Amino acid sequence: MKPATFVLFGATGDLAKRKIYPALYQLFVDQKLPSSFSLIGLGRRELSHETFQSNVEQSLLNFSRSEVKDAAVIKKFLRAFRYQVLDVERKEDYTKLLRVVEEREEELNITPNRMFYLSVGPEFFETIATNIHESGLGSVDGWKRLVIEKPFGHDLESARHLNQKLNQAFDETEIYRIDHYLGKPMVQQMGQLLHSALSEQELRSRSMASIQISANETLGVEERAGYYDHAGAIRDMFQNHMLQLLMMLTIELPNRSSVEEVGPLKRKIIKSLQPLHKMDVKHHIVRGQYGAGEIKEGQVVGYTNEPGIASDSQNDTFIAARLQSNDPFWKDIPLYIRTGKRLKEKVTRIVIEFKLEGPLKDLLIIEIGPNEGIFFQKSQSVQEHSEGELPIRNQVSFLKEGVTDAYESLIYDALMGDKTYFAHWDEVELSWEWVQPILEAYQENLLPLHIYPAGSFGPLEADELLARDGFHWWFDNKNASNDEATQGNVPTYHYNT
Ligand code: NAD
Repeated sequence: MKPATFVLFGATGDLAKRKIYPALYQLFVDQKLPSSFSLIGLGRRELSHETFQSNVEQSLLNFSRSEVKDAAVIKKFLRAFRYQVLDVERKEDYTKLLRVVEEREEELNITPNRMFYLSVGPEFFETIATNIHESGLGSVDGWKRLVIEKPFGHDLESARHLNQKLNQAFDETEIYRIDHYLGKPMVQQMGQLLHSALSEQELRSRSMASIQISANETLGVEERAGYYDHAGAIRDMFQNHMLQLLMMLTIELPNRSSVEEVGPLKRKIIKSLQPLHKMDVKHHIVRGQYGAGEIKEGQVVGYTNEPGIASDSQNDTFIAARLQSNDPFWKDIPLYIRTGKRLKEKVTRIVIEFKLEGPLKDLLIIEIGPNEGIFFQKSQSVQEHSEGELPIRNQVSFLKEGVTDAYESLIYDALMGDKTYFAHWDEVELSWEWVQPILEAYQENLLPLHIYPAGSFGPLEADELLARDGFHWWFDNKNASNDEATQGNVPTYHYNT
C-alpha cells in the first residue's frame, strides 16, 4: 500500500469518533495501513495535537472492537495524528492546511497521496471540494481521493448539481461515495452466497415467486430531527441503502469482484426497474409515519411529538414499495422493499420465496443484521412456522479475513484505490431517477400518510400491498413480546435438505 495522508474534515464529529478512528486503529493493529501514514484532523475548535490525540484515544477506548490496552501500540498509532483548525468557508484555512500537509509529507519523505475524507454535513461537500481544488491541496504527484458519506443530494436535480461541482475538483475515479451497507461482508458476498446455497440451475428451476427486503429499525428519530425531518425514510434509507441492497442481490453472477464487473451489472439492474409515474405511485408505494406506541423500553411518543419535529410534519418514517424489473432473469418476480423506524423488530433481512404448489413454501433467507447468516428453509407453511426444530446457520466465510466492520473494509479499500464497494455516480443518479416521481407524489400529497403505532410492523396498508399479489411479509412475528421481537433473528429457520 502506498504512503498516504488522510485529511479528515469533521475530526471532532460523531462519525469520526464512533467509526473512523476505531476502524483506522483496527487496520493499524492488523497491519493494513500504509507504513508511512499521517492523519490531519480538521475542526473549527482550537485544539493542541496532544488534546486531539487524547480525544482519539478516548474514542478508541469507547468504540474499538478490539481491546485497547497496549500503551506502546496506541502511542505508535497516535503518533500519526495531527490537528489543524479549519472553517470550511475560510479560504485562507486551506492555504494553511496545504502548508501543514506538505510539511508532514516532507517530514515523512512521502509522495503526496492525499485522501480527503468529508465527515461533515453534505451542505459542505461542494465548498470543501472547490477549496481543495483552488488552494492547490488537490494538485498532487501521487493520487488524490475524495471520500463522502451519503446523502448525495436531496433529489435528482440537487444530486446532479452536487456531482457537477465535485467533478470540477475530482473526477469520478477519484470520488468514493460511502454507502456503509456496501461495506458489510454479507452484502459484498450476497451474490456468491446465493449461488452457493442454491446452484444457478436450481435457482432457475425452483423459480422465484417473490423477493422481500426489509430494514426495520426500533429506534425513533433520536437527535437527528433537523436532518431527518427533511429526508424521511425515502431519502435516508430507500434511495441509497435499500436500492443498493436490491442491486447487490440481483447482480446475476457469482465471483464478481472488480469494479469493472460489478458496476455495469448493478446499473443494468437499476435501469431495468419499471419506472413509476407520480399519478400511479399510490398503487406501488405505502408511506407511513409512526404514532405513539409501545416498544421494548416502554411507551414512546409519536413522531410529531419528538423533540425538534413540527407537530404537523408530514415526513415519512416508513416506506414500503413494490418494484418490478424488466430484466429477463427477474421479470415477473415482484420485488418488495420496506424500511421504517420504531418498528417491532430490529432486523435487515432478505427473503426469497420460491414457487411451490399448495400452501408449503421454500424460502431462502439472508440475514444482514444484527446477525449475519444465510439459511434455506424448506416447505414452510404459509400459515405458521413449524415448532421444535433448531435453527441451523450456514457458516459465512468472509472475503476479507478478519474484517467485519463496514468502515474498516471501506477505508481499507479507499486507501487501496478499490472502488468496487462504493456507490458509482451512475447508480446514484439512476436511483434518484427512479425515486423522483415518489418524491413528487409525496410533495403533491398524491398518496396518504398512514400513521402506524410504534412497536408495530408498520401500516396495515404495507401488508395489503403484498396481499394483493397473494403474498405476505415473512416473519412478522406479530404475537412476539417486544423483548423477543427486538432481539433480531427471531424466526426459527430450519435447514432441511
Ligand atoms: P457531527 O455533527 O457530529 O460532526 C460534524 C463535524 O463537522 C464536526 O467535527 C464539526 O466540527 C464539523 N463542522 C461543522 N461545521 C463546520 C465548519 N463550518 N467548518 C469546519 N468544520 C465544521 O456529524 P456526524 O454525525 O459526524 O456526521 C458527519 C457526516 O457523516 C454527515 O454527512 C452525516 O450525514 C454522515 N453520517 C454520519 C453517521 C453517524 O453515524 N454519525 C452515519 C452515516 C453518515
